[in-house]
Amino acid sequence: MGKSLDALASYFRPQVDSFVADCLAAGLPLTIEDTDRDQATQAADIAAGRSWTTHSKHLPQPPEMRSEAIDCVPMALLSVKQWGWYGTIETSDPRWLQMGEIGEKNGMEWGGRWPNNPPHSRSDPGHFQFKPPDNSETVQEVSAEG
Ligand SMILES: [Zn+2]
Repeated sequence: MGKSLDALASYFRPQVDSFVADCLAAGLPLTIEDTDRDQATQAADIAAGRSWTTHSKHLPQPPEMRSEAIDCVPMALLSVKQWGWYGTIETSDPRWLQMGEIGEKNGMEWGGRWPNNPPHSRSDPGHFQFKPPDNSETVQEVSAEG
């Protein structure tokens, strides 16, 4: 388990750098909580209820075998009980949504959008991950025209 941005995949790092800079410019400085994770740490996190997936993007991802995910918290929220997250975007501190939207603007997938439906999924407002280019829409358009 590490916090170094050097652990991120080279194609993901520029999005993260831009995201962190944009948040700072918006008056929302962040602290990085987690970047990469090894299998043993992930297994321990699942056992402890801190994570719930064996397919975490924090684990080494091909082709570079580096992390494609980052966990961060607005510094202003670190002193708030339960980090100000109450299960949904609507009921939580607005700074989570502000951070999430800045991450999405930089092309990342935001865990705050994930449905709170344990054990299958949980919203994870501090989590951002690499979003691969999605070609399915293009394929559907082509087949609709054909
Ligand atoms: Zn995460």
